[in-house]
Amino acid sequence: MKIQNNILLKDYTTYKIGGPAKYFARIGNLEELREAFKIVKKENLPYFILGGGSNSLISDKGFNGLVILIENNEIKKYDNKLQISSGLILQDAINFATEYNLKGLEWGEGIPGMVGGAIRGNAGAFGGEIKNVLESIKTYDPESNMVKEYHNSEADFSYRNSIFKNKAYKEVILSAVFKLSYGKEKDIARKRNQYKLYRLENHPQEPSCGSVFKNIKDKKFLQHYLEKHSEIREQYIKNWIYKIPAAYFIAEAGLTGFQMGQAQVSPKHTNFIINKGKAEADEIARLISFIKSRVKERFGVRLQEEVQYIGWQ
Ligand SMILES: Cc1cc2nc3c(=O)[nH]c(=O)nc-3n(C[C@H](O)[C@H](O)[C@H](O)COP(=O)(O)OP(=O)(O)OC[C@H]3O[C@@H](n4cnc5c(N)ncnc54)[C@H](O)[C@@H]3O)c2cc1C
Repeated sequence: MKIQNNILLKDYTTYKIGGPAKYFARIGNLEELREAFKIVKKENLPYFILGGGSNSLISDKGFNGLVILIENNEIKKYDNKLQISSGLILQDAINFATEYNLKGLEWGEGIPGMVGGAIRGNAGAFGGEIKNVLESIKTYDPESNMVKEYHNSEADFSYRNSIFKNKAYKEVILSAVFKLSYGKEKDIARKRNQYKLYRLENHPQEPSCGSVFKNIKDKKFLQHYLEKHSEIREQYIKNWIYKIPAAYFIAEAGLTGFQMGQAQVSPKHTNFIINKGKAEADEIARLISFIKSRVKERFGVRLQEEVQYIGWQ
């Protein structure tokens, strides 16, 4: 395993933002991961695990420690189950499943990043979530130097959350077993295409981290929201959906297109903050903070970030 110095992290994030990592290591297997943590312990270094950098806002000052880039990317098929390493790009996992007509991951079409990042944050879209197709997860625990295995039911999955996101669990996700089912080639292709087109039409294409804020569970505002969006009313009532998109509050607060420096609330989707070209992490962070206080002031609603801050004191 080679440790590099002074590597610019903006090249490793979908935001195209982030200062230098003091130390940087690419990890392809467990042995290398153990080696990296030996150094972390010996030198008492701060560290963080980086996947595809698509849910991370890395400070302009960078990270004063070791950045561990997870690149283990194996995938194996056992009938309808796939054992997938955490460093595999999520889209590659979906493509692999599609080749064998395995369904269950189509909702992930267009979500950037790697499998490990998706598991940690229980990624989801279009009514699907990764937790619904996971059987078990293997992790490495740097404290005990042991590999652990969690059954799905032990991982405390909930909306954009899991036990691995909890600060007390500083474990690195190594791999997971996905339980899928066989479907028809044309149905899988149709769904994937439908989601791909939806994203193209409704999401901004500029650099971003996807949705900045989690959606809100609030019955008080639901009626008002559904009055404004009568086209989805039936679907909401039928499926008992109580979550209101954070985008709704941001738009209602008059912030569509609002800009701070090179950071802008996307006019296309108000839960995306886009990098207009040369945005600094600081501008994005200030805009996030401004949106939170404006929405709190207008509606009494506390927006909570989905994006992870890295390298901020
Ligand atoms: C255009 C766009 C659209 C998006 N759409 C969606 C969407 O529809 N639904 C959705 O849920 N998300 C969406 N996202 C957000 C993001 O893509 C997902 O959250 C993704 O799963 C993050 O994976 P990553 O590898 O990029 O994580 P990173 O940003 O690299 O890391 C995120 C966090 O996970 C930790 N981490 C990463 N890998 C590991 C590991 N192996 N073990 C332990 N911790 C780890 C990191 O330390 C960090 O704290 C979107 C993002 C973009 C840019």
